[in-house]
Amino acid sequence: MKTIDLRSDTVTQPTAAMRAAMMAAPLGDDVFGDDPTVNALQERIAALTGKEAALFMPSGTQSNLCGILAHCGRGDEYIVGQLAHTYRYEGGGAAVFGSVQPQPLVQDAQGRMALTDIAAAIKPDDPHFARTRLLCLENTWNGHVMPDDYLRGATALAREHGLATHLDGARVFNAAVASAAAGQGAHERVRQIADHFDSLSVCFSKGLGAPVGSALCGSQELIKSARRIRKMAGGGLRQAGLLAACALHALDHHVDRLAEDHANARRLAEGLSGIEGLTVKSAETNIVFVDVADGRGPALLDFLKAHGVLATGLIGLRFVTHLDVDAAGIDHAIATVRRFFAEAPAGAASASRTGPY
Ligand SMILES: *Cc1c(COP(=O)(O)O)cnc(C)c1O
Repeated sequence: MKTIDLRSDTVTQPTAAMRAAMMAAPLGDDVFGDDPTVNALQERIAALTGKEAALFMPSGTQSNLCGILAHCGRGDEYIVGQLAHTYRYEGGGAAVFGSVQPQPLVQDAQGRMALTDIAAAIKPDDPHFARTRLLCLENTWNGHVMPDDYLRGATALAREHGLATHLDGARVFNAAVASAAAGQGAHERVRQIADHFDSLSVCFSKGLGAPVGSALCGSQELIKSARRIRKMAGGGLRQAGLLAACALHALDHHVDRLAEDHANARRLAEGLSGIEGLTVKSAETNIVFVDVADGRGPALLDFLKAHGVLATGLIGLRFVTHLDVDAAGIDHAIATVRRFFAEAPAGAASASRTGPY
């Protein structure tokens, strides 16, 4: 039985066509700037996002880190969501490696920080305070698409106060595909989103299906600085065109198909809604969150795993769709969840109630 792996969109295997593109890629030493495939990718993603330059990165974490450290120096701070990836899931890298203090703020259910909170968190020029330098947003956040009016308002507010702006756009292609106007191409839509920001980081290794890689996009000056920081962080790779070829292939072939992942996420959300003991959150893009009542999340996860379906979480389970899962796999996942509740109805509560994560 084929495993239906819904833990993340990072679990995808490179397709045969992607592996062929990888094998055919012309290569050079990228630390010398000699890798033609890396250079082609960097030019391509810079043009696509409407920025002057871009830098290929081993991971989204390193891309955000280099971006934040290129914008901020020691004793500076950046404003970021309390549950944003850069703040919560990147080991505190900006603080550890750059002495850049995060100023985390509460987010609403869609991931937005209130503009009044952002304004109140921007410190005056006073030796008591860290220097507020940067506003960092994330799109998509937990699968939610940030509305344009919010991106416009928050980045305008930042600019009024002299702050730079950075987007953690690990899944910005999902945001673009989900929010493109009728007849509008996803690439054009990515550029519209990117236009609000001085810099953005995009991941090729999530829904786009490349094995490795992200890119930081921004001004020539910012990218020059980020290149130095990337070298310090050990991210200067040699014949990285092997990986850049996969990212280029993904940009050519895996962007529009994200709509299939979004349709599969909706299929899953619809299939799970109405099951007693589950509360299904909306699926705007490729991520579905499901709250499980009575502390039965871990038992459900175990049951799913025993039947070839993988997900993550404890109380709230997370299911992520991607190019290695089709509608039949989704239907198998739905049927397996239904079986769990049919075979072990509520009341037979699991002993493994686990605290909030
Ligand atoms: C995955 C992710 C990252 C980090 O990317 P890695 O390649 O795993 O380091 C950053 N931000 C968001 C929103 C992500 O989902």
